[in-house]
Amino acid sequence: MAKQSKEWIRKRVESRKGYHPTEETLRKQSEAKKGSKNPMYGKPRSQEAIQKFIVTRAGYKHSNETRQKIREARLRFYKEHPEAIPKGEKNPMYGTISVWRDKHLPEKIRLKISQQRKGKYNGSDNPFFGKRHTEHTREIMKDKWKHRSFKEKDNKLELRFQKELKIRNIIFQKQAEILGRPDIFIQPNICIFVDGCYWHGCKCKFNPEWSGEHAEYIKSRMKHDIEVNQKLHEAGYVVLRFWEHEILGDINSCISKINSYYKIEDGRKYDSK
Ligand SMILES: [Zn+2]
Repeated sequence: MAKQSKEWIRKRVESRKGYHPTEETLRKQSEAKKGSKNPMYGKPRSQEAIQKFIVTRAGYKHSNETRQKIREARLRFYKEHPEAIPKGEKNPMYGTISVWRDKHLPEKIRLKISQQRKGKYNGSDNPFFGKRHTEHTREIMKDKWKHRSFKEKDNKLELRFQKELKIRNIIFQKQAEILGRPDIFIQPNICIFVDGCYWHGCKCKFNPEWSGEHAEYIKSRMKHDIEVNQKLHEAGYVVLRFWEHEILGDINSCISKINSYYKIEDGRKYDSK
């Protein structure tokens, strides 16, 4: 639209004085400029225009009703266009921390909350009842599953193991740069893997007859573990794998298993307390 001269605008204002469009006309005019019919539809405003807008609107606040409407419209829009949701720093929620995150409530309080909630969110009372994640969200969730890090749980086991080795003055390396990245490596050639029962497919937690995404993943991991064992063995390494349940159950027998190799392979002795 061409910019009108000030004189033109003044004249127009003058001539329109006392003119009140009917409700019907207003509605029609508003209808004619809705959504994609609006000449500004899909066009980004210039920085200058945005600045001007902010200045003229300074101090103005939408009514609560309007705010609600805007919120709903935005939600509707993002529901239809999930790809338009701002990512990373552009997302207004970026960097904000959920109230519940990192809150390690005492066991007593957790129990109390759980008791209070019991039965309240079942079935149709659950706010998510009957709803489904959008296809987009489901894709993201799937992807997150695949790239999930299992390190945290493994680490607890590793730490347990490392502690036992340290007590016995056994010198070891963590996450050595060897094929398969052994959790613990003891010179000259002992590779030790500390395997979580579920994700590495121990019989105590995993049934090979299961199917689904977890099962697929676990099976591929088991295959990978076997391959690593073979390759390491061929290269002259001693491979020892310990299950989570073995470590949690009887770590001493794990250590004595290492011990037998340790003495044979290395000849060094250590102080067994
Ligand atoms: Zn197990």
